[in-house]
Amino acid sequence: MKLLALFSLVALSASAAPLKVLLVDGQNNHAWKQTSPELKAILEEGGLCAVDVSTAPAKGGDWKAWHPDFSAYQVVVSNYNGELWPEDIRTAFEKYVGDGGGFVSVHAADNSFPEWKAYNEMIGVGGWGGRNEKSGPYLRLREDKWTLDPVAGRGGSHGQQHEFVMTTRAPEHPIMAGLPAKWLHKQDELYDRLRGPAQNVTVLSSAKSPTEKGGSGEEEPLLMAIPFGKGRVFHTALGHGLEALKCVGFAVTLRRGTEWAATGAVTQKVPADFPTETASKARP
Ligand code: ZN
Repeated sequence: MKLLALFSLVALSASAAPLKVLLVDGQNNHAWKQTSPELKAILEEGGLCAVDVSTAPAKGGDWKAWHPDFSAYQVVVSNYNGELWPEDIRTAFEKYVGDGGGFVSVHAADNSFPEWKAYNEMIGVGGWGGRNEKSGPYLRLREDKWTLDPVAGRGGSHGQQHEFVMTTRAPEHPIMAGLPAKWLHKQDELYDRLRGPAQNVTVLSSAKSPTEKGGSGEEEPLLMAIPFGKGRVFHTALGHGLEALKCVGFAVTLRRGTEWAATGAVTQKVPADFPTETASKARP
């Protein structure tokens, strides 16, 4: 019996090969040395992904020493916010996603590269780095529809960190299918006033940014899906620090978004401990 059970286990794991993921980090105004191992652990949970980490040079470092091979992976996850990548790496990344590679932008990765047109098309909207109306419109919820608002103003802001309710906006999308209509996220930074090309963005989930916490007073898009050429991009604006990464909802949406970006489908079941509208849930 024992042998049979072992054989079944081996057969099972062999039939579902983990997704090949490249996690990119190396510069960030956030604690990337703490969050990257946690992001890797979240993605590898349950054997979904096999994650390699590629760490770019520190600010002012030797860029010639960095040679990430995007094409060897099904999806690239960015925990990077820093200096512009060299042109050959930018070109390789655009070709990789354009040809059908997956890309996942986590939190401050959407602060990166305000000057890189294709990157901003991939993330849809971004913040800081001098972004303003010249970077593109805001995505604003008006009468139940996401509309493009070109009004002048800063791109990127946030109020005080707090727990907030995420509202599903695209329940039919593979990333969101089966998730509750509303769930409480653990303490995080709620990015507001992001702006960019915002073309073909599917807003998957949003949260109200309360003015009493220093926010915009608007419903802010926080989980997004964006096509780029033949590739798929999942953009999560969540994940400021370890507290946010403890949230079951963060982990589940990151795993589902990463699988979707890699394959176009989501095979994962929604776990029983997913947060509800009134109770956030920490990962074990
Ligand atoms: Zn942050």
